[in-house]
Amino acid sequence: MKIESIEAVIVDVPTRRPIQMSITTVDKQSYVIVRVRSEGNVGVGEGGSVGGPVWSSECAETIKIIVERYLAPHLIGTDVFNVSSAIQTMARAVTGNASAKSAVEMALLDLKARVLGISIADLLGGKLRSSIPIAWTLASGDTTRDIDAANEMLERRRHNRFKVKLGFRSPADDLRHMEALSSKLGSRASLRVDVNQGWDEQVASVYIPELEKLGVELIEQPVARENTEALRRLSLDNRVAIMADESLSTLASAFDLARDRSVDAFSLKLCNMGGVLATQKVAAVAEASGIASYGGTMLDSTIGTSVALQLYSTIPSLPFGCELLGPFVLADTLSQEELEIRDFELQVPSGLGHGMTLDEDKVRRYSRPM
Ligand code: MN
Repeated sequence: MKIESIEAVIVDVPTRRPIQMSITTVDKQSYVIVRVRSEGNVGVGEGGSVGGPVWSSECAETIKIIVERYLAPHLIGTDVFNVSSAIQTMARAVTGNASAKSAVEMALLDLKARVLGISIADLLGGKLRSSIPIAWTLASGDTTRDIDAANEMLERRRHNRFKVKLGFRSPADDLRHMEALSSKLGSRASLRVDVNQGWDEQVASVYIPELEKLGVELIEQPVARENTEALRRLSLDNRVAIMADESLSTLASAFDLARDRSVDAFSLKLCNMGGVLATQKVAAVAEASGIASYGGTMLDSTIGTSVALQLYSTIPSLPFGCELLGPFVLADTLSQEELEIRDFELQVPSGLGHGMTLDEDKVRRYSRPM
């Protein structure tokens, strides 16, 4: 079977409420939906970047251009089943642009799995779990609202792990915020923080021990992405787990972080690593070096989230669970199926490919030209 066509559509999906990060505030999420067709079959993938090029070096517009103008011409006419060859072809045709390549690879894996009558998890070796604990992000910037949101999630048995976005207030205010959350939620919840590179090493070295005293179990990307030496010292000096997110961008960066034991956990993100198979390799580096894998997200829609779930369900150890909450921060869904959270765990979809069927009406409704 040959690849007959590859198309990329930009969609803007509104979020339920604004999401505040240290560097930007997001009130809609842009995705690029990629469709690969062959002999009447279609595989669907997704690319994206939270808040456009402020977080990563890609945005919806660049992803669409790279896919349609610079990747598709090299892939059309080639073997649908040879995903390894497609990855190599894309690497030779285009430098960087991990999310664009990831979106195409997702669509190819989805198409291949569907034609074979299996799931993407089956293609990757098979599922080890059918659900994954999922953290909720507290990012309203308001202490009372965050506590109310957490209590609501606990009561509904949706989330008992909370990731708090820090770094957009002063560190002292962040600490007061965390003290209030910790005292109100107590042992009913576990707390993690994501500083999104908001601190320097000196500030981090002062505040991480304070957060550890509060029982915070995971500190995500406290310092600038390139400052891996600071990450290494902070990991060495503190018992609480330090996690790389922005610092982890390629297989080589994973190797460097693992060799120097610069962090205790890797936040896996398919669109950062350039796809499912590359992320699987990063998870293997983590496994070999005693670093925890964590199911990160770029706030993907149900499509990208389901692909990530397929991969994360095959990773032997995932001690901190995942944060695949993209579908739940969106005000609408691009697929006919919904993803389900039960007893604090996100259920891995069953079915062929990634398990989601694109809702063509929704894609039309939210699509826009460049
Ligand atoms: Mn992060």
